[in-house]
Amino acid sequence: MQLVERFKFITMLSNPFIHLHLHTEYSMLGKAMGIKQLMQKAAHCKMSAVAMTDHGNIFGAIEFYREAMQAGIKPILGCEVYLTPPGVRLTEHRPDSKNRRNSHLTLLAQNNTGWHNLIKLVGKAHQNGFYRKPRIDKELLAEHSEGLICLSGCINGEINQLILQEQIGAARKSLEEFSDIFGREDFFLEIHDHGLKQQHVCTRQMVKFGKEFDLGLVAANDVHFIEQEYFEGHEEAVRRGVGSLQRDECRISYSPESYFKTSEEMAGLFKSLPEAICNTQIIADRCEVSMGLSSTSMLGDYPVFDPPNDLRREEYFRKLCFEGFRVRYGARADRSEGLKAHLDFEIDTIIAKGFDSYFLIIWDIFKWARDRGIIINSGRGTAGNCLVTYVLGITDFNPFSCGLSFSNFINSECVSPPEINIGLCLVRRDEVIEYMQQKYGKSLLSI
Ligand SMILES: [Zn+2]
Ligand SMILES: [Zn+2]
Repeated sequence: MQLVERFKFITMLSNPFIHLHLHTEYSMLGKAMGIKQLMQKAAHCKMSAVAMTDHGNIFGAIEFYREAMQAGIKPILGCEVYLTPPGVRLTEHRPDSKNRRNSHLTLLAQNNTGWHNLIKLVGKAHQNGFYRKPRIDKELLAEHSEGLICLSGCINGEINQLILQEQIGAARKSLEEFSDIFGREDFFLEIHDHGLKQQHVCTRQMVKFGKEFDLGLVAANDVHFIEQEYFEGHEEAVRRGVGSLQRDECRISYSPESYFKTSEEMAGLFKSLPEAICNTQIIADRCEVSMGLSSTSMLGDYPVFDPPNDLRREEYFRKLCFEGFRVRYGARADRSEGLKAHLDFEIDTIIAKGFDSYFLIIWDIFKWARDRGIIINSGRGTAGNCLVTYVLGITDFNPFSCGLSFSNFINSECVSPPEINIGLCLVRRDEVIEYMQQKYGKSLLSI
């Protein structure tokens, strides 16, 4: 059955609620929300679509998209971004105070323009806005709002925070700013109900705002784990794996209720606000991102790199980059936050684009050849603009020494991996080619 037909089939059978605010394992350490299991659960619950909104990153996008397509579920790509406090630019590094802290905001890509804007926002948050968290501000948001649907966020959202501080005038102003940035059609007031009194206070005010500004309400559950009984395991993973800062800031979001509730459960929770349930399906129907990947291959026509020791490919890629970073920069590697942030940005961009296999395969070929004393280099072309190629040993000159720019190598418009020219010792060239063919198949040779 064609995927499109399968979407329709599931839609016909399903209830109207769709999870539009959901964290995968890419938000947390631990496997409380493995993407494969998640898709099984969504299919079991007859949900025709499901969104991914990890905290400040989109690392899981390719895997999420592929697994959703394989399960016949529509993938909705999004991110729960960190927004600087009102009036604070993303380049400002001011410590948070009780009433001035980063807020959360839920963004969903409505189409490919929106998806590219989300990549830009997350990339700039890591590159320019990183201060404890990858942050954006409203000016940046306004520059890249096209094609995005915005939900006002969890209890840590800016409007909800102002409501809880009883600053209704400021909450109204904040709401108007978001509504101006996204337009009334693409901005929704997000409501949650984990039985918390604070959420009820926010919902009551959001219902009033919805009527006052003619904005849609949308119900969400801020899903962090699949089954309710996974809560303890998830808490334990958070305790062990995440620093106290993040834990404290997000503490209030985690509740035993943050599990993948069924449509019936969600409809029951919001029975007095049925439009907030229906709007989830309306939004899901509007989101159509095409990543151009086949449903069976992670990278379309490219071979896939298999990392050792059960590591996830993205993890392995990051690990190799940071190991190489320490080799190239020595003690400076630990001191320079700017260099580290730039490396993170390049890694995030490469992963978000789905090019990590490509870089790993080239790294592997270089390593294999050098281990055998075969001369191999890549001195030509735009690969010299990239810190990742330098730390992986693919290029040999520091891109910062001559002011080169990563965006000349990979930018948001790239749909296929960038060209990396490889120079090989003529005498032993055949040995390398044979290794490549044996390990990755003949298709690699056309890369
Ligand atoms: Zn949140
Ligand atoms: Zn969340």
